[in-house]
Amino acid sequence: MTDAAESAAGARDQARASAAISARQQARHGGISLVRFLYADHGGIVRGKATHASGLEARMTSGIGHTVAMMAMNMLDHLQPVEGMGPVGEVRIVPDPQTFVPLPYAPGAAAMASDLVRPDGQPWEACARTFLKQAIAALAAEGYAMRAAFEPEFTLGQREPDPDGGPDRLVPADDSLCYSSTGFQRAHDFTMDLVQALEAQRLEVEHYYPELGHGQQEVVIRHAPALRAADNHLLYRETVRGVAFRRGVWASLAPKPVPDQAGNGTHLHGSLFELGPDGAPTGRNVFADSRDQYGLSDIGYHFIGGVLAHLPALTALTCGSVNSYRRLAPQTWSSAYTIYGMDNREAAVRIASVLRGDPASSVNLELKPSDSSANPYLALGAFIHAGLDGIRGKLDPGAAVNVDPATLSDAERARLGARRLPGSLEAALNALEADDLLMTALGPLRSRAYLAVKRSEVADFAAHDAAYECFHHFTKI
Ligand code: GLU
Ligand code: MG
Repeated sequence: MTDAAESAAGARDQARASAAISARQQARHGGISLVRFLYADHGGIVRGKATHASGLEARMTSGIGHTVAMMAMNMLDHLQPVEGMGPVGEVRIVPDPQTFVPLPYAPGAAAMASDLVRPDGQPWEACARTFLKQAIAALAAEGYAMRAAFEPEFTLGQREPDPDGGPDRLVPADDSLCYSSTGFQRAHDFTMDLVQALEAQRLEVEHYYPELGHGQQEVVIRHAPALRAADNHLLYRETVRGVAFRRGVWASLAPKPVPDQAGNGTHLHGSLFELGPDGAPTGRNVFADSRDQYGLSDIGYHFIGGVLAHLPALTALTCGSVNSYRRLAPQTWSSAYTIYGMDNREAAVRIASVLRGDPASSVNLELKPSDSSANPYLALGAFIHAGLDGIRGKLDPGAAVNVDPATLSDAERARLGARRLPGSLEAALNALEADDLLMTALGPLRSRAYLAVKRSEVADFAAHDAAYECFHHFTKI
């Protein structure tokens, strides 16, 4: 290790130790009995185990024992045969004390985002949070750190039996119009509970609005260093559903919980900053260049070049469920083609226009084919790897497309390099399997398990109708 890397590792250990002390104190004085150690799996589900507060100190070091097989479990709780993830073998769920939060929607409980670690304390090859940390380290080796934000939409409603005896349906809470004041009024009590619960966990709420779909809401959390952003999204997903369930209503972040309504995107925003001495993104936003017509630097364009080059494969990780592909349709503002554009809401990558008063730091790229059925650690880690590949190879993304690609002819789209995004999870998984960069970054165990889990979901949902698919997604995500 270099001196700088050693002192950064030392600083990280120290920060972890003082966060562990603070977590213990908060648990003791905050009336906490149970602390949930949470992680996200390959099915896109948030899972975990809880320790009693009396064992918290020891468990923050030792973790809680867990079978390796859980990363071979799909979103229907069907265990897949994956070499290295059978009935024999243990990992530990080891929490990150810097993420400790009492849960406002679960009195007496707190939570921490966690890694899956080998019993000897070494990183486990199938831990998703470790995958993101490795992507962040690869960026750091080039002198960059990412600030990122997940921008989630979700549907608020009621889970109701189908009158015709089919699977339960999500019935939206209102039929209000997009950004309408009626929408604000109808969802107000729930939204205030949600915002206060997010604030209590130090998630910085930036905006709120009732979105286009019936019952659809969007509450946006401010960008943060990449790992924190993914941890925030995990806590956010838990909070949306936790607050809803406590109020006796249902909320779902599934990409398309109601087939005839607007889909729920979770657009992924990112920008690269110079790396600070402690590994944090500080100093200059290296995506910003005021001389460029769109305010974007060469590094920014190369990052787009990498994302577009890997996009069909990347989609398998950012749009991780069968239900994701019901959302990704042309002319729904979710994106459907491999193009980028300036403030183009039909482009897969949108250069977001800068904010007046903050031009230098507000330049960022928005990935539209992204939703909350993805594992946020895999999605953000893969986004980083794809962009970094573009930076290393100085990839040229071509010209910005500032029209709706669905309005162009096939020949025009071909000339612009606008390929249709994968039309199904199956097609996206095939693209992932053929993508050397992302397969190598995932590594053999993780990629084997991810493909097996996701292909089992493809097979299960192919044998059923849309109502079954929506039911299984809105009840779990
Ligand atoms: N609901 C749209 C999606 O599926 C996004 C609408 C918007 O916020 O632009 O991504
Ligand atoms: Mg929106």
